[in-house]
Amino acid sequence: MQHNSANPEFAVVIVGRGPVGATLANLLGLCGVRTLVLEREARTYHLPRAVHFDDECMRVFQTIGLAEDILPHVILSPGMRFLDAEGRLMLDWPRSQDLTPMGWHLSYRFHQPDLEDILINGLRRWPQVELRNRCDVFALDEDEGGVRVRYEDLSNGQLSEVRAAYVVGCDGARSLVRRVIGSGMDDLGFHERWLVIDALLKRERPDLGDYSIQHCDPRRPATYIRGTGNRRRWEITVHPDEETQGMMQPGKVWELLSQWIAPDEAEIERAAVYTFHSAIAQQWRNGRLLLAGDSAHQTPPFLGQGMCAGIRDVANLAWKLRDIIAGRADASLLDTYQSERSPHVREFIELAIRLGGVINTKAIEAGLAAGEARENAPVKLEVRKPLLGRGLAIGDLPLGGHLAPQFMLSDGRRSDDRIGYANVLLVERTGALSQAAYSALAQSGIEVLTSRDAEDLGRWLREHDIKAALIRPDRYVRGAVRTELELNQLIANVCTGNHVPTAA
Ligand SMILES: Cc1cc2nc3c(=O)[nH]c(=O)nc-3n(C[C@H](O)[C@H](O)[C@H](O)COP(=O)(O)OP(=O)(O)OC[C@H]3O[C@@H](n4cnc5c(N)ncnc54)[C@H](O)[C@@H]3O)c2cc1C
Repeated sequence: MQHNSANPEFAVVIVGRGPVGATLANLLGLCGVRTLVLEREARTYHLPRAVHFDDECMRVFQTIGLAEDILPHVILSPGMRFLDAEGRLMLDWPRSQDLTPMGWHLSYRFHQPDLEDILINGLRRWPQVELRNRCDVFALDEDEGGVRVRYEDLSNGQLSEVRAAYVVGCDGARSLVRRVIGSGMDDLGFHERWLVIDALLKRERPDLGDYSIQHCDPRRPATYIRGTGNRRRWEITVHPDEETQGMMQPGKVWELLSQWIAPDEAEIERAAVYTFHSAIAQQWRNGRLLLAGDSAHQTPPFLGQGMCAGIRDVANLAWKLRDIIAGRADASLLDTYQSERSPHVREFIELAIRLGGVINTKAIEAGLAAGEARENAPVKLEVRKPLLGRGLAIGDLPLGGHLAPQFMLSDGRRSDDRIGYANVLLVERTGALSQAAYSALAQSGIEVLTSRDAEDLGRWLREHDIKAALIRPDRYVRGAVRTELELNQLIANVCTGNHVPTAA
């Protein structure tokens, strides 16, 4: 173990047990990494925030064995429609109701506290993971052998400390860990106040619909979102000359809601003014300190991607930490974390800002340019997932930085369930591998799946005109090859523990 010099009690300390910290703790638990989670609050933040997550997030929840627990708490989203001030459809963004190549649905609606409770309960399964609530981290001091983490137990005011090999700041937008790292933020230019109203319907209102609606009314842009159960959300712009406090008063809230709903039809769970920011930390790592989730990036919520981006961060980070802590990789592997994740999240934030422009109808053309124009019909929007930035993808090999699909195996299981959170080589047939390659893969713990295991796998390889593809534990393609020679080179490259970043 590389961190033994000062014998830290914990391989990883996670600061913050929001959805991102809790997912990371589950991933590290799955990897058997000794982990401590320190959280300031006694319990889950009870007020709603995120309402949407995507197929890639659900795949991460599947990896940590919690997808089945989450499913009863979500509904599928049919999509989003943008209406102009007269109620005419300007832009349509339907979400397919079929399974995507990820093996899940494209868009789920959920209630963030429900998800957080499931993630936190999930921690009980991992003997290597400990959660300490009401512990406020106030100082981090890094030395050669580890990090000294000092915190106050808010239940009794006692000061304590632990040592860790690595500390991950999942401590939200006002991150202490980011401050200690000394990272500034790149400002992507969007800062707007929006009034977020969560309502609980007292009676059925099917006419409100299941689609999310962007009311692109220049006088007062607003968003309607159907939540789970009887939850409905409205997000309404606050004008620059309007006072924050005044906007949250019940009288004002009901006045703003009056075009959709009346006080006898719903109860307001909360109404709060948020300032939505768009920013990315300039430095996601300094030595043994790292950032993930809102501490590393913040986005306006128009794409529903803030938490999703954080879930992607930790899926990218956990296996790298695991390999370094187990002595299988050099700490420089962590350099690929920001270089891969930061451009990916930046693309999503920039798209969210463009969508915000459409809602504000200040820049309709720019927004429409993101869609596909059709004659005499509203523009249809399709959003492609960004690629990972430069990092571990090998050379110019095809598909580097793309997500690999999940396959249905001939034994009825899903491929991720068989692979676990591990590397896998997808290959048309085992005959393509030399005996040496085979043993190198086995020694490195890299699974092999062939088209005999899953018919779709062979189809996918042929569709991309490739012989094989090496997939990382976070399901991104590390490299794909077209010839047997390239295949054996790829295996030699990864099985010598060559984690050295190369150009994507
Ligand atoms: C109105 C709104 C709508 C949104 N909609 C969506 C959506 O539809 N989809 C989506 O993906 N995202 C959405 N988001 C964003 C999403 O809610 C956040 O991205 C997500 O909560 C970030 O998770 P996190 O774990 O990084 O941080 P947080 O959830 O902020 O958790 C940070 C945790 O760290 C703890 N902490 C902080 N400092 C310390 C310390 N010093 N010591 C100990 N503990 C500490 C805090 O108590 C907290 O529990 C929305 C946000 C808002 C406000």
